[in-house]
Amino acid sequence: MLSYLHGFHAGNLADIQKHAAQVLALRMMQAKPSGIACFDTHAGSALYDLRSERARKTAEADAGVGRLWALRDRLQTDDWAPLIDVLADLNGDVDELRRYPGSPEWFRRLQRDQDSLTVFELHPAEGEQLAAWGGRGTTRVFREDGLRGLLRQLPPRLPRLMVLIDPSYEVKSEYRDVADTLARAWRKCRHGVYLVWYPLLTSGLEQALKDAVKSGPVSAVLCSEIRLERPPERGMVGSGLLVVNPPWGFGDRLEKLLADVSGADGLSVSSAMSWLVPE
Ligand code: SAM
Repeated sequence: MLSYLHGFHAGNLADIQKHAAQVLALRMMQAKPSGIACFDTHAGSALYDLRSERARKTAEADAGVGRLWALRDRLQTDDWAPLIDVLADLNGDVDELRRYPGSPEWFRRLQRDQDSLTVFELHPAEGEQLAAWGGRGTTRVFREDGLRGLLRQLPPRLPRLMVLIDPSYEVKSEYRDVADTLARAWRKCRHGVYLVWYPLLTSGLEQALKDAVKSGPVSAVLCSEIRLERPPERGMVGSGLLVVNPPWGFGDRLEKLLADVSGADGLSVSSAMSWLVPE
């Protein structure tokens, strides 16, 4: 029984790290003309209302995209521009953002004619919203388990592959399941770029994912972690991302993006980047 709803968390610090990395990786891959098959295994509902009851209950977006938006005048760089442009496009020239794009919407807004997008969502209500969103375009929407669905669809028909794996980790076994799926997907498409999000927890549960990836077959795994400015005593204290086969120079550019929004008046206190498994 799934209970996680991304509407409570959309636009938070973890989303900024994840979506900044997603947009950067895709744009860097798009420097070459060949088509990219994009897969989003845990898509959510694609668009979020930052003024909804859910969003206001946690107010997590205030310290995420709310702060980012307030800093936008000093984020005038080539790598921030596509993110700021999408937010401006969705919201207009406003002081306070209302709409926030989930990962499928980021993919779709950056998609070229030669790219494809396939998304999965298992939660019935989220899946219904996603299907309605997907019905407006050429995106393939599957309301089923995203890990199994991904493996069924690989290798892709297009020459290149980008996969975002962003589970809610409601079940402890998901950390190992994700590592296992990553290894199996990688065997089917070794040149794919895979982004795997995970929470940094006081319990340290996420270590199971990192250990399993480290001892598995996948190589060239970059690891980006950021820490919350005011971590709670229990629960999530930060956000992590594994990036398999990052485009050349991706790590430096992501590090720069995260450094731009770290520090005293930024979004997070610290950001670290290292190879979990070397190239
Ligand atoms: N990727 C989205 C974004 O960045 O906007 C947020 C996704 S949210 C963290 C995780 C989503 O995965 C939830 O909507 C949840 O219902 C869904 N989910 C959980 N288990 C799943 C599974 N096995 N297959 C597909 N979706 C699943």
